[in-house]
Amino acid sequence: MNAPATSSLTTRKRDIRGELGLRPIINVSGTMTALGASIMVPEAVEAMAAIGPEFVEIDDLQRAASGVIARLTGAEAGFVTASCASGIAVSVAGSMTRDSLRAIEQLPDTTGLRDEVLLQVGHMVSYGAPVEQSIRLCGGRVVPVGTVSSAYGYQLDEAITERTASALYVVSHHTVQYGMISLEEFSQICHARQVPVIVDAASEYDLKGFLARGADVVLYSGHKFLGGPTTGIVAGSKDLVRAAYLQNRGIGRGMKVGKESVAGVIAALVAWEKRDHEGIREREKAALRLWQDTLAPLPGIAATIVPDPTDNPLDRLQVDVLPESGFTASGLAAALAAGDPPVIVRDHETQRGHFFLDPCNLHPGEADIVAGRLLATIKASNTARFREADRGNMREKLLRWPD
Ligand SMILES: *Cc1c(COP(=O)(O)O)cnc(C)c1O
Repeated sequence: MNAPATSSLTTRKRDIRGELGLRPIINVSGTMTALGASIMVPEAVEAMAAIGPEFVEIDDLQRAASGVIARLTGAEAGFVTASCASGIAVSVAGSMTRDSLRAIEQLPDTTGLRDEVLLQVGHMVSYGAPVEQSIRLCGGRVVPVGTVSSAYGYQLDEAITERTASALYVVSHHTVQYGMISLEEFSQICHARQVPVIVDAASEYDLKGFLARGADVVLYSGHKFLGGPTTGIVAGSKDLVRAAYLQNRGIGRGMKVGKESVAGVIAALVAWEKRDHEGIREREKAALRLWQDTLAPLPGIAATIVPDPTDNPLDRLQVDVLPESGFTASGLAAALAAGDPPVIVRDHETQRGHFFLDPCNLHPGEADIVAGRLLATIKASNTARFREADRGNMREKLLRWPD
């Protein structure tokens, strides 16, 4: 007999991954799109199931979202879109069209519109796709400011023209972490010239700080730390948020978000307000200490707890892999990913001889399994097979899908 679909217990017990032929991976890599982002909180799952069979008036549902987003961020208004990347595209589009419905239908043709968008070179990151593509998607022209290692206020100021629509500021561990213009200075310079500032804060826990420091619009992912469904949250001044929302009648249509996702992320935001943040932090720290203690006696492995680079309240374990271990960092990451169960580590810096273990997406009991896999994998050192993983093969691997 079927138990009610709304019970989170039931959801966990059903082996949906097995049914679909998927590997039962353990995610110690962080909130990664390619791994299904985060553990959706039960409140979000329940809200999505509840609204699924109902009809709603979407503008009213988005109005409700606006209220909750405003409460949590301190913004005047907000809405939900498909992803943070979509949020960038529709916010930039809104800065070009403002509330001209005709211009909204005209994009990505920007004839007669302001279309230049300023972006520091050190902020031109990829989160799986290049951030500046979200600008180009709506017809915007990226105007680079500064160099990869430095940017100054005068460079930003002198890049502003009568065609400047907005300026994008990225907050992320991906960006260059030194030599860039601070958000405060960036906003002051832009505002003195009536240029709105859009902040990509996709992975940042701080829901109020960026608007407080001068952003006009700030964007978050609903599916990262918030534990909502795949969504983007747009928050900011009412006129810019409205102009971005109206893009649903234009280029935003291909980024449509359904009722279930809007309801789900509203529930996740409300749950975030009530979450036991301290308790979660303690559990994450316990996992880090367990892994650190597990690795301590092993030759050629050094494990250090490191803070998040952009000051999110989250630490990670940096695992340095030296030759005495019999592994390279990328080789050990690949060996763990090939294990049973597969353990997927945070491996974007393996060229520097280390990877990270991120404790923010663990189910109960998984910290112990990861500790066991670390020990077993390193003891069964298999260097020949896992010497250098995959960077070179990436293209070949991508072009093989769906085989
Ligand atoms: C994850 C991320 C994005 C993309 O967010 P999505 O919601 O997955 O589109 C954009 N910017 C930064 C800095 C990110 O970390």
